[in-house]
Amino acid sequence: MTCIHHVAGAVQAVRKYRQQEAQKRVPDDLKSHSFFGSMDFWRYIPVFDNRLCPKCKALFEHHFFQGSHLRIVFPYLEIRDEDTINANVHPNCRCELWRVTVGKYYDKAYTKFFGDPEKV
Ligand SMILES: [Zn+2]
Ligand SMILES: [Zn+2]
Repeated sequence: MTCIHHVAGAVQAVRKYRQQEAQKRVPDDLKSHSFFGSMDFWRYIPVFDNRLCPKCKALFEHHFFQGSHLRIVFPYLEIRDEDTINANVHPNCRCELWRVTVGKYYDKAYTKFFGDPEKV
């Protein structure tokens, strides 16, 4: 005999899991963009006020995240547009990930992960 509440709970858990997975999927209109590649870099951007929690502050101090690590570090992430991802570190988290575009920021991120490209 299976308890009906147990079944309902399991169904809810599966639904929640699917919802989270769907959130992480690249929306159809953004399919031409790469989000989770090893050459995609993201900067963690919190809202700096007295509600900034230690967890989010620590993530900010980590500076850059490689695209291929995003779904592991931020299991609840939500793609907003081609250059913005909601981090969803915890409920009511207001932090975002901003794409590090080619240029100064990109070079800095690249160097941090792979060393100076000029010296390779
Ligand atoms: Zn936080
Ligand atoms: Zn946050």
